[in-house]
Amino acid sequence: MLPSFDPNDTEQGLQLLEKLTCNAGAIQEKVLEEILLRNGETEYLRKFINGRSGGGGVYDKQKFKKNVKVVSYEDIKPCIDRIANGSEPSSSIISSQPITELLTSSGTSGGQPKMMPSTAEDLDRKTFFYNLLVPVMNKYIDGLDQGKAMYLLFVKPETSTPSGLMARPVLTSYYKSKNFKNRPFNRYNVYTSPDETILCPDNKQSMYCQLLCGLVQRDDVLRVGAIFASAFLRAIKFLEDHWQELCSNIRTGRVSDWIDVSSWRAAVSSILTKPNSKLADLIEYECCRSESWEGIIKKLWPRTKFIEVIITGSMAQYISTLEFYSGGLPLVSTMYASSECYFGINFKPLSSPYDVSYTLLPNMAYFEFLHVEKDCQEVIQDFHFNGVSDHTCICKEEDEEKTLETVDLVDVQIGQYYELVITTFTGLYRYRVGDILMVTGFHNKAPQFKFIQRRNVILSIDSDKTNEEDLLNAVTKSKLILEPLGFLLTEYTSFADTSTIPGHYVLFYELKTKGDRSNGEYLDPIIMEQCCFSVEESLDSVYRRCRKKDNSIGPLEIRVVKNGTFDELMDYCLSQGSSVNQYKTPRCIKSEEALNILNCRVIGKFFSKKIPFWEAFRMEKSETYLN
Ligand code: AMP
Repeated sequence: MLPSFDPNDTEQGLQLLEKLTCNAGAIQEKVLEEILLRNGETEYLRKFINGRSGGGGVYDKQKFKKNVKVVSYEDIKPCIDRIANGSEPSSSIISSQPITELLTSSGTSGGQPKMMPSTAEDLDRKTFFYNLLVPVMNKYIDGLDQGKAMYLLFVKPETSTPSGLMARPVLTSYYKSKNFKNRPFNRYNVYTSPDETILCPDNKQSMYCQLLCGLVQRDDVLRVGAIFASAFLRAIKFLEDHWQELCSNIRTGRVSDWIDVSSWRAAVSSILTKPNSKLADLIEYECCRSESWEGIIKKLWPRTKFIEVIITGSMAQYISTLEFYSGGLPLVSTMYASSECYFGINFKPLSSPYDVSYTLLPNMAYFEFLHVEKDCQEVIQDFHFNGVSDHTCICKEEDEEKTLETVDLVDVQIGQYYELVITTFTGLYRYRVGDILMVTGFHNKAPQFKFIQRRNVILSIDSDKTNEEDLLNAVTKSKLILEPLGFLLTEYTSFADTSTIPGHYVLFYELKTKGDRSNGEYLDPIIMEQCCFSVEESLDSVYRRCRKKDNSIGPLEIRVVKNGTFDELMDYCLSQGSSVNQYKTPRCIKSEEALNILNCRVIGKFFSKKIPFWEAFRMEKSETYLN
């Protein structure tokens, strides 16, 4: 299933991608056949399919689709809990291969991270995936082998489950593996960060050491990045706070004493081999040269060709801030992946961050798609009750007997929205990932998807339902007012305040002034009220109807918070189990503690002073579902 190839051989890698995408349909059939052959006798699958999954070992996709239920995490949680807690052999429950670890996702269930099963073989699948990213980048950017990559990568401490399995984030698992240590694309120590600094469990020390190594090797650096855009921006903030100390270390050739583990110190010292006052002067000059840090990345790492970070989905709101710091460098979002499975690759890494699409690799898992309307409501489908189609039934999550109709990978339609459902080699069957994707095109037979949002991330006061994409679009409109005045919106989140009648939307904004890097405290109330109104005007017609006609939603409020507030929010989320690499700012705040963090740091509150436009006849698609 996993062809071997040399990632440094661009031609060979690209040919392999052509082969995979030309044969997407056949590969998908084979993947499902292989999964059922391996795991048909597991307790989980036997519940749905009597005897051998395909009937006497013969693979039967229709039977699989008809009988095996489409599930969410809550459905499989009892199995996962047994694997995490039980003394019985995990291999009989969901997978014939032993579950070797549980990967903790950024999604939560009952306040705890969801745990996804993984097997030894799965590490090879991820490695195969990472290896395929290399020829794609090499195709578009020459000479990457002539220099280094400053990728800021982090691990999180693991925990052990009662059954003795390791529970940890997927990236921690990968970085600690021998596959990462022996990554073939790091033949000539391409990364500026020694592995010891990546594997350092203290994220502050890790960040410091990695930035120090990156600065010392600045002349070699051809690309910089982190996993998500938010992590890279956090690194820039860290640099703002620590550049004097970093320069002093470079000047003396000695790493600060608070880096307190000898192997980390030794790893840094192998790069910071001697005092270098010339380099320290240069970095100091660039950091002090202008009040504003506009273009600082290009100034500090002048040979850098691009910034590699995931910039799609909820990360899209960082695009303008990153562009501010980047000095015109392309922002490259290479891959789409999760703890459950690695999904797809961006075949056009230099495309605009707003136009990124990912091509799902057909040998990663068996992919199915639930059609959703643009507003991410599930399409009303025919549901089958004991084989009898009932055309009047609408999807109800709790309905035990339903069978959701799915579309195969090669049958999705351009322009349509789908929720991703996966069957993996590691024991997830027809599992709803919770991501909504839109088909933008095909590469050979393999569809390409734009990441739209995670399912059901919404604000709602009355019959309105605002999803993450709607919110981002509306917030983006307010940026058009703020940016010409020199304000950058660096972070935002929202909250449905129902403590008043009627309730209203509250947006928390963290602003920074372009010019002097100072706090955005001196805000003109008139301008901020305009921002509130522009957000309201950009929200959908149901929202506007509730505001204008029904009076069921009060004026939208923007609360501006102090600089650093969203770092505090992140620290809080990390303390609750999120990992640094995978952290995404929640776009809607539900927890009381998180809300307190934001509310304690409010420096200005502003309300919309006008009623947004709404006309009865302007019926938008979403209304047919929402009203
Ligand atoms: P986790 O399991 O914590 O690693 O989170 C995986 C989730 O992160 C995915 O299901 C997506 O919702 C999101 N994600 C991962 N990669 C991307 C991407 N390239 N663009 C947008 N969202 C992504």
